[in-house]
Amino acid sequence: MRVLLCATALATAAAGCTGTPERVRPTAAVTVPASVDPPVVVLDPGHNGRNAENRAAIERQVPDGRGGMKACNTTGTATDAGYPEHAFTFDVATRVAQRLAAAGIRAVLTRADDDGVGPCVDERGNAGAAADADAVVSIHADGAAPEASGFHVALSDPPLHPAQEAPARALGVAVRDAMRAAGFPDADYIGRDGLDLRADLAGLNHATRPTVLVECANMRHPEEAALVSSPEGRDRYAAAIAAGIHAFLAAR
Ligand SMILES: [Zn+2]
Repeated sequence: MRVLLCATALATAAAGCTGTPERVRPTAAVTVPASVDPPVVVLDPGHNGRNAENRAAIERQVPDGRGGMKACNTTGTATDAGYPEHAFTFDVATRVAQRLAAAGIRAVLTRADDDGVGPCVDERGNAGAAADADAVVSIHADGAAPEASGFHVALSDPPLHPAQEAPARALGVAVRDAMRAAGFPDADYIGRDGLDLRADLAGLNHATRPTVLVECANMRHPEEAALVSSPEGRDRYAAAIAAGIHAFLAAR
């Protein structure tokens, strides 16, 4: 797009356009249709590695997207053996990003590593718009009672933006179906049919792009704890999430 701007009479004023007008070749640029732009997917690994050490920062109140306020972030949960949710979510998101990149899809993570604080939930919720994303998937794991198990995909409800209606539901169903196809069971303790309608998740409330939050497993369940704690298990979750994103993008 920038090349196209440089080829116009606005050439000398266009930001980033350093060539003189006679040096640009407009015919080469204008033949590239916008549709060849690769899809953009924001992956939002829940929590962060230094949240627990920075309580004041993560307890700061931020807009919850429904007119109220809530904490910037939380520490997340962990397995009984101490494997933390933030490490799980970052590893899975990185694996999903690698799979998407291999398919020509640009993945944008909401945090660069697992050694920082935040970002806050409102910023995560706005990340899809900031990246001009086609889809946003927030990745978490739950900390429920030990006998509870399974995954669920959370959706904003009641929806606050058109993107939170049919587009988000389509993304949620695609991720749900891919998780099922990979052998992960629907949660037996929350939601229905692997989906959970939520009004309290700021990351979903702020969304203006199709956005869902997947709770991959219950980290307190012995078998699921073993799965999330192993690289092989995390790769299975990542493959399923990537497959769901592919299915959603292909069906648009
Ligand atoms: Zn979480």
